[in-house]
Amino acid sequence: MDDRVLIFDTTLRDGEQSAGAAMTVDEKVEIARQLEKLNVDVIEAGFPISSPGDFEAVQKIAREVRKPIIAALARANPADVDRAAEALKDAAHPRIHVFISSSDEHIQHQLNKNREEVVEMAAQNIARARKHVDDVEFSPMDSSRTDKEFLAHMVRAAVDAGATTINIPDTVGYAIPEEFAGLITYLREQVPELGDTVRLSVHCHDDLGMSVANSLAAVKAGARQVEGCINGIGERAGNTALEEIIMALRTRPDYFGVDSQVNAKQLFATSRLVSQVSGFAVQPNKAIVGRNAFRHASGIHQDAFLKKATTFEIIDPVEVGVPRSELVLGKLSGRHGLMSRLEELGYTPTDEELGKIYEAFTSIADKKREVTDRDLIALMSNERTSVVETYSLVSVQVTCGSNAIATATVHLTDQTGRAFTDAATGSGPVDAVYKAINRLVLVPNSLTDFSVNSVTEGIDAVGEVSIRIEQDDRQYIGRGADTDIIVASAKAYMNALNRLLSMGDISRSPEAATAV
Ligand code: MN
Repeated sequence: MDDRVLIFDTTLRDGEQSAGAAMTVDEKVEIARQLEKLNVDVIEAGFPISSPGDFEAVQKIAREVRKPIIAALARANPADVDRAAEALKDAAHPRIHVFISSSDEHIQHQLNKNREEVVEMAAQNIARARKHVDDVEFSPMDSSRTDKEFLAHMVRAAVDAGATTINIPDTVGYAIPEEFAGLITYLREQVPELGDTVRLSVHCHDDLGMSVANSLAAVKAGARQVEGCINGIGERAGNTALEEIIMALRTRPDYFGVDSQVNAKQLFATSRLVSQVSGFAVQPNKAIVGRNAFRHASGIHQDAFLKKATTFEIIDPVEVGVPRSELVLGKLSGRHGLMSRLEELGYTPTDEELGKIYEAFTSIADKKREVTDRDLIALMSNERTSVVETYSLVSVQVTCGSNAIATATVHLTDQTGRAFTDAATGSGPVDAVYKAINRLVLVPNSLTDFSVNSVTEGIDAVGEVSIRIEQDDRQYIGRGADTDIIVASAKAYMNALNRLLSMGDISRSPEAATAV
């Protein structure tokens, strides 16, 4: 059997579906480009019929990201399949991913059909998708709660209708590793094409914290494609964390005997980008990509680790692209030094971007003696925002302290260069800044989340502010970084407001909200 496991990334579809992770089209394209560098095999770029924004994202990614397979999701009906095909029209390697529920629970309560009607719908629409493209994936949704014999019957019909990949989703995160491996073995016995001429895939959710374990058990039983998201984001408790799958296979070839073709050195940069764009911080103890994943605190461990790293470290952090945190650049490093360091970190800024970044870099180097890789990464995310700047922050000034009324003055410009200035008081400096901005921008919203993190150790560290604002039940994230946390807070708020202003048109129709 094939000793290569395909990595199917659905960060842009299942990941983006999670509450509060809405991304702009340009942000999706930026993530897709990074996933191409990571060398994943398949990128599921969206669910084209669900919204104009999803359609546009799939179309743009299909046109600009040429190496991996680009997949688009479709329910088993002609309109969905045709819309997916249209979005993928210009793709180098298009795949239509058709799904329909297979469990009685879903068939009766969600679809109001009987079993045979559902099998018929699946087969007809797989055949329809095959008229558009050669590469068609089929997922019987809620497989892990489906009657085994019926699941095999449906998979048989899907293969006969022309599906080239069969994906078994544990949609609700219900499976247990041994049992899930048993299901994979059973299906391979019933439908011998699986693992032979038809690729067998799994898609697990983390409701019981077992998505990675279930996926790996399935690989051991013969699955040769794993679906998941970077950082394990996704519906409810999330999807399989792809970085964990990738490194488990690579660290334990003795056990699995299979590997992916992923360029693991891009894992850290990808994780960081997804975290910034989705607004979901990575927990410090997260496997592979958490900031503590390679830190040794215990004295005995440290001592042994310094003598020989492999005593307490099973993965060399360099292998997953964790940036070195020692001093790299200072005030006197020129544009060239900055550029070559950025390239080493995986960025390729244009000349125009480099000009802006260099300016921001010298301003940080003025305030902070040492500029580390982590500072540079924060700087890059700050300067390369993919959000249209309807309003830009020019300056912010505050007065605050004990026995003082917090007061802020802000100065903004709009896209035509018109300048606006106003001032406000508040319960603290950030509140005053936000109220002053509100007086100028006039976009009603409520702040639901505010957090400050320091990028590196030290009192002069760059502070990164992440916020979430809400309008009409929709959430928008904003980020800003600066050595001054008031300035970082103002930047984050402007980023969220600009996102809200530019995303008005890409809401999803509610009936399309459920998926694999
Ligand atoms: Mn899913």
